[in-house]
Amino acid sequence: MRVYVIGAGAAGMMAAITAAKSGHSVTVLEKNEKAGKKIYITGKGRCNLTNACDNDTFFRSVKRNPRFLYSSYSAFSAYDAIDAFEQMGLKTKVERGNRVFPVSDKSSDVIKALENEMKRLGVTVLFNTKVTGIKAAGAEKVLYTESREGQKAFEADAVVIATGGLSYRSTGSDGDGYRFAKEFGHSVTPCTPSLVALELVQKTAELEGLSLKNVTLTVTGPVPSKGGFKVKEIYRDFGEMLFTRNGISGPLVLSASAELSPIFSKDCPEKTFVHIDLKPALTYEQLDLRVLRDFEANINKNFGNSLYDLLPSRLADLVVRRSGIDPLSKVNTVTAGERERLVKLLKDLEFEVAGLAGFNEAVITCGGVNVKEVDPKTMESKLVPGVYFAGEVLDLDALTGGFNLQIAWSTGVCAGNNIGL
Ligand SMILES: Cc1cc2nc3c(=O)[nH]c(=O)nc-3n(C[C@H](O)[C@H](O)[C@H](O)COP(=O)(O)OP(=O)(O)OC[C@H]3O[C@@H](n4cnc5c(N)ncnc54)[C@H](O)[C@@H]3O)c2cc1C
Repeated sequence: MRVYVIGAGAAGMMAAITAAKSGHSVTVLEKNEKAGKKIYITGKGRCNLTNACDNDTFFRSVKRNPRFLYSSYSAFSAYDAIDAFEQMGLKTKVERGNRVFPVSDKSSDVIKALENEMKRLGVTVLFNTKVTGIKAAGAEKVLYTESREGQKAFEADAVVIATGGLSYRSTGSDGDGYRFAKEFGHSVTPCTPSLVALELVQKTAELEGLSLKNVTLTVTGPVPSKGGFKVKEIYRDFGEMLFTRNGISGPLVLSASAELSPIFSKDCPEKTFVHIDLKPALTYEQLDLRVLRDFEANINKNFGNSLYDLLPSRLADLVVRRSGIDPLSKVNTVTAGERERLVKLLKDLEFEVAGLAGFNEAVITCGGVNVKEVDPKTMESKLVPGVYFAGEVLDLDALTGGFNLQIAWSTGVCAGNNIGL
């Protein structure tokens, strides 16, 4: 069969390789001048290509529609992906949290492995070729493209839409796949950035670059409930975070954003707050004693200079300001009530969330082609036979750790394997 794959990203290349192995004549149409522009920037240039975890961990890490992946993931799991890449000549290693990387630490080697495999299997890749529209007339599909040579039409027996989501548009993913899907009558669930920094109402420019280790981050806010919203704890975890110019980022915050993305896609009047426990290892009482000890050691100092042993200086200054205690007052004049306020602040430094940072900073898109309209066993559209979807274009997203690329590999292989069956 004549198979056309739209997009030479992770999902598209994997689908093309698999379809070619099944004996199809495969062409990949890619609007960029090269393949895998997004793969190149993954894992800070090292490409965390999958996660060597058990099945439960994988499905727990997929935030939207994990059940849709049961079939495709069991057919092509993280271990199958590792084997497939090793067979393509890419040596891999497992790091902290079961994250899998190429031994070379170079994402470009992952792209090379996929490109070499496509070449070996006789896949044609047309770069600088943007698909502008697709028509389906019975069994035959026609793809309309624009390239330097002008406009062209390609006749296809099967089409794989692997155009990615909306994050990091400069890599080529700018939502074309959603348009194609809608033209075929598919619904697309609302798209919001995920695995992304949070912007805060309170300005944090003076803390920019400050990294906090071993803190607990809690997020409280509205969750959809009985046609409305109810305010509850949305996220809580212990780890590392970072202040940015307009808010917060880092591992804890990216994971929290995955819980917030669907909420921010809805118009909700309730506010969302982050609460940082700066000393989670100490109970309130233990922290109070620690503060008292610090006060005793700094008995002749101004309150404004008394927290530098406890906190990084920029954060100490913010806590002093927020405490409402006169920074010029001597430590021994701080009242028990004021100290109580201070300790509460250290256990619960609160900021109001203004929103999610934009798609251009987001690792992944939450939302996409409605998976209810796609066969999970084949990735074929339930509305238009011969049209398949793979990768981030689908309403699937997961936490960081290699899970999102694994979704691209599993759905890509599934589409490629099932064409023409
Ligand atoms: C900064 C960053 C770091 C990340 N790190 C990791 C990581 O370490 N591990 C992990 O698992 N995930 C990571 N991700 C997520 C992961 O990269 C994506 O989930 C994955 O690349 C999605 O693959 P895809 O093939 O579906 O889409 P993409 O990789 O976006 O590929 C889509 C392709 O389609 C092409 N295209 C789009 N429209 C058209 C059109 N009309 N015509 C022709 N071509 C078109 C695009 O140019 C692009 O090449 C990261 C993402 C980002 C942004």
